Amino acid sequence: MSDKLVPYDVREGLPSASYMEADANCPGKRNLEEGLPPKPVSKWAEAGSRMHEYMRTVDENLFKAFSKDEQKTVKIAGELLMKVVEKHGFKTGALQTKEERIWMYEADGETKKYSGQIDNLNIWKSLDRLLIVDFKMLRGDTTPAVSNWQGRTLALLASRRYGASEVIFVLIQPWKSPQIDEVIYRQADLEEAERAIDEVIAASKEVGAPRHPGQPQCNHCAAVHCCPEALTAGLAVSLYKTDMMSPGALLARAQAYQLIEKIIEEDKANMKRILEADPTAIPGLTLQATGHTRKITNMELAKELLSAYFSEEEWTRLTSLKIGDAEEAFGKALGLSEEEAKGAFNDLLVSCMATYPKAKSLRVLKKR
Ligand code: SF4
Repeated sequence: MSDKLVPYDVREGLPSASYMEADANCPGKRNLEEGLPPKPVSKWAEAGSRMHEYMRTVDENLFKAFSKDEQKTVKIAGELLMKVVEKHGFKTGALQTKEERIWMYEADGETKKYSGQIDNLNIWKSLDRLLIVDFKMLRGDTTPAVSNWQGRTLALLASRRYGASEVIFVLIQPWKSPQIDEVIYRQADLEEAERAIDEVIAASKEVGAPRHPGQPQCNHCAAVHCCPEALTAGLAVSLYKTDMMSPGALLARAQAYQLIEKIIEEDKANMKRILEADPTAIPGLTLQATGHTRKITNMELAKELLSAYFSEEEWTRLTSLKIGDAEEAFGKALGLSEEEAKGAFNDLLVSCMATYPKAKSLRVLKKR
């Protein structure tokens, strides 16, 4: 099974092959995710997990319970697997391990450093040459094998575990093109992979490691709902639907929105001030007039001029009372406070006034 779907504790909170690409793309991700619950598993990921389970067990009961699409997917994947195994000469008698998690250790040989789980590992004749297969059963994008961090990490882990000097990493992806995508790691490539992986892990441990939003990494990030960078980039909205979020996460998002709205407002006001003082100060940005506010100052004259075009009823409708303005004038005339004026005005007009609730707005409560 792809270790994307295995709970965090299987990885013991340490880096893993399937998250290596996200760590490489966003070094600050691991820091922000610390202590947060993993992202809920989507129904697609859950389907992928069941199909991986079938590829491991070939359990007919699982197959019968699949949808037609899932049955087709595992059938194609099985056929492609046969092709790949034959193509690389691992035809018969190849020892296969399935869903094996392999660990890389620190120099002391005891402290765990990172791990990866291999869907399908083939060994034939000599442990010197290995074939790793990773199934991508879903239809979403996959990074090509040649630049795939998961493949790079799995190849290195397998080579260290079995002492191999050549590892073929193959992506089998029934619904993508190409359906079989592969790369061969030889000794020098494996050494380069180890150096690159160590760099990624070291960068992600740095205090204040930068966060870089982007679809591949944010898509699987547990912190996407409260990450300022992702929110600013607008990614959280499309990648992490509110109906999948916990109440705490929803509150965190509302608080982040409040902050972001304030920043945007302040920034815009600042930019306007700069441009008002010097219209050329920010090349590419300009102040644009948005029109004028018009107000009729002589209602009697306006009525006289327009009387040929409107009936009395239409005119009354067009000039209907603005309650807020009338309330204010009423209060002034009687020398009442805003609150008193509102009460007295409403009491007076109760027989000729209707009240409808406005759409509710969100308000973040202050902490007690
Ligand atoms: S949401 Fe995206 S940018 Fe933010 S920490 Fe996660 S991966 Fe990085």
